[in-house]
Amino acid sequence: MSLFIIVTNAVFIFGGEPLVNIIQGFYILENLKKYCDSHGISLFCGIITNGSLITSEIIDKLLYYNCTMVQITLDGTKDVHDARRPYKNGKGSFDDIICAIKLLSKVSNKLRTIIRINIDKTNTTEAVNLLRYLGNNGEGLTMCGIDFGIVRGSTSACSAYSGNCYIDYEIGDVLEYLWNEAEKQGFLMHTNPFQRWMYCGLYSDGQYTVTPDCNVYKCWEHAGMDEHRMGEIGDDGSLVNVSFALYDWMSKNPLEDKDCRECVYLPACGGGCGVVSYNETGTYHAKGCFKVKGVLEKQIQRFALEVANKAKK
Ligand code: SF4
Ligand code: SF4
Repeated sequence: MSLFIIVTNAVFIFGGEPLVNIIQGFYILENLKKYCDSHGISLFCGIITNGSLITSEIIDKLLYYNCTMVQITLDGTKDVHDARRPYKNGKGSFDDIICAIKLLSKVSNKLRTIIRINIDKTNTTEAVNLLRYLGNNGEGLTMCGIDFGIVRGSTSACSAYSGNCYIDYEIGDVLEYLWNEAEKQGFLMHTNPFQRWMYCGLYSDGQYTVTPDCNVYKCWEHAGMDEHRMGEIGDDGSLVNVSFALYDWMSKNPLEDKDCRECVYLPACGGGCGVVSYNETGTYHAKGCFKVKGVLEKQIQRFALEVANKAKK
């Protein structure tokens, strides 16, 4: 199943694994392109994929649709990744994915490849091994961006795994360690402190997740869950049958929550993630602390150091 997230004039295709049925993905992109061309809109796209099915032909076609970002997840070096993500026949997928990243690196001036490494307590050391393999001590794929995802176990499906997940106040130290390791390997890390009135783009008017049956959600973590369905795409492309959930989501205001109102991280935080709030409290209107406490301090320290180093030159 492919899902789509629409960011005003950009579409990100993800899944499941979107390349399993990329014919469907290209069909949708073609139709959106025609619509955008006829309305004077520039269309951009991106794709989140496991990378195993990427070919030169697919890259060419993605470029045709103004693809600017490909995100590929790796779970570790070859042995670890292959043990965690084998093909149906048991064969590992690591080598194919590295070949795909090398193919993508040939067009890095037009298309940015982001390597996503999901982190929990079980694989942080392995993540460093992977950075060494990918970076200057190994394949030299430093034109790629690195994104560290923090695994969280707050949904009912993942709660059994929550003991392996970092808790909020540990995340800053872990990320700082990994940012430094990535930089040692030649990757350019963008860790400037953020300041945002909205915690996430999905609080803006223009970002939605759309499932293949044309149902509309805000966050992909809620896709397919009836209580979070915000509406559907009508025949003319507009959002119809809008439900209360959309108004409920969009009316989140951190100043109405006592914890957020009194929190030193506001306004830089924006009130947190609605998925975290809902999973923890059953409402979007509560604090949704995630990847802020302890992380913002590290970002500020790094930013200050960067400024001081520039001033010395
Ligand atoms: S979500 Fe958490 S970190 Fe963010 S402002 Fe609210 S209490 Fe503070
Ligand atoms: S999980 Fe939270 S922060 Fe991430 S996209 Fe969804 S709403 Fe935004």
